[in-house]
Amino acid sequence: MGSACNRSIPDQRLLRAIGSDLERGGHLSNQEQHQPVATATVFKATSPAATAGVCDHDVGELKDKNQRTHYQLPECSVPEKKRFFIAGPCSVESEEQMLQTAMQLSAFDVTLIRGGVWKPRTRPGSFEGVGVKGLAWLREAGSALGLPVATEVASSTHVEECLKAGVDVLWIGARTTTSPFAVQHVADALRGVDIPVMVKNPMNPDIELWIGAIERINKAGVTKIMAIHRGFSTYGETLYRNRPIWRIPIELRRRLPNLPLICDPSHICGKRRYVMAVAQQAIDLLFDGLMIEVHCAPSNALSDSAQQMTPAQYGRLIRRLRYVSSSAPTQLPEVIKLLRNQIDAIDDNLIALLAKRMECAERIGIWKRKHNVSLFQPERWEQILQDRIQSSVRRHLSASFVRNLFEHIHEEALNIQGRVPAERSCSRRQRGTQAFTAEHFENERRASEERDVAELDLHAQVENSPPLSWEGRHITEMGQD
Ligand code: PEP
Ligand code: MN
Repeated sequence: MGSACNRSIPDQRLLRAIGSDLERGGHLSNQEQHQPVATATVFKATSPAATAGVCDHDVGELKDKNQRTHYQLPECSVPEKKRFFIAGPCSVESEEQMLQTAMQLSAFDVTLIRGGVWKPRTRPGSFEGVGVKGLAWLREAGSALGLPVATEVASSTHVEECLKAGVDVLWIGARTTTSPFAVQHVADALRGVDIPVMVKNPMNPDIELWIGAIERINKAGVTKIMAIHRGFSTYGETLYRNRPIWRIPIELRRRLPNLPLICDPSHICGKRRYVMAVAQQAIDLLFDGLMIEVHCAPSNALSDSAQQMTPAQYGRLIRRLRYVSSSAPTQLPEVIKLLRNQIDAIDDNLIALLAKRMECAERIGIWKRKHNVSLFQPERWEQILQDRIQSSVRRHLSASFVRNLFEHIHEEALNIQGRVPAERSCSRRQRGTQAFTAEHFENERRASEERDVAELDLHAQVENSPPLSWEGRHITEMGQD
């Protein structure tokens, strides 16, 4: 098992290679003194403990209004600039492949070289990585460019081998994050070794599991942690290999605002031609950097061949990225204020309409209970879905968005109907509660008419307003004008 001592030289090298002024004066070999191609500061340590290599703090816990836990990573460091670029092959295959890839990458902006030596494959019999000997080839590639290197670990043995070989940064893969047992084994092996660790999201869209893995690593004393969003696995064919479900990393950022967040568009897309668009989307969503699979000869790659790109393609991608400012201008243009007011009013109406829809569903639920009819009606559901998708497409809303939305709405309607007790209509009426008296229905009819009028007003407002896409992107572009 490696110790904090084992780590001291690689840590210094990492900090030096990335231009940090935190660690000076470490002994570097000639090879290690190569000028780095990229001088981006990767990790800015926020406390002396973070540079000492060992720390024993606990993750702070906060509860928000909804009693959700927010974890604070007090010692966590933040990259100083947005251009944190991790590039390299899916798998380390040979010494030559690593050196070729690294040399071709030397012309471009790279912060950290990646390469997997233990490959978690879905089915047995695929290429499972070259194992320990690949760590030396990875290190050589890094040294050739004066850059730190990273690989995936899934067990305590992997961690030990990486520490011995002087790997600078480790990452926990999506399959491992999914298993708290496995993450704990990795965390235990990391105790007392403050090597930077990147935690990929779990395969399934479960933010608690992702945070839990980050927390386990942090509790082991690791202070330099980053999260990597690589999408979530799905059943059935989709555009993406792993659906991005951006609301999950956005929620992670909300709950752990100081945690650097990287996007891995290669594993999200599965096909290299989509990678640019997803990389740009991540930058637009204020991600701190990217992890991109790059191979000197992607078509011959032993794993993930379709999603890897050549170093030259990588270089073009990085050059074409557009950066956005995260800070809202202090003086908002009038049109933006008006649009935001309009959005607030629309959201209010949406909520009122949803409440009305749920009331209807509840009444139908009472009828279903009374007549012993199943809550779920497959034909009706299919008809709703097809109809809503068709009418949304006519309004230029994306079919997948509308499908997701209606799946949520339908699920909630079924939940509400499921809570209707079999005897409820009877007992409530007998108790004389307000729910089903004639007066109640009359009040409800009036309220409903008022909402219809509000709805018509809303349509009139929307129809009279300038033609606008409903997507934020359009509005952002207008704001930049
Ligand atoms: C990888 O980065 O090579 C990898 C296996 O990724 P993931 O864990 O995201 O599937
Ligand atoms: Mn891969």
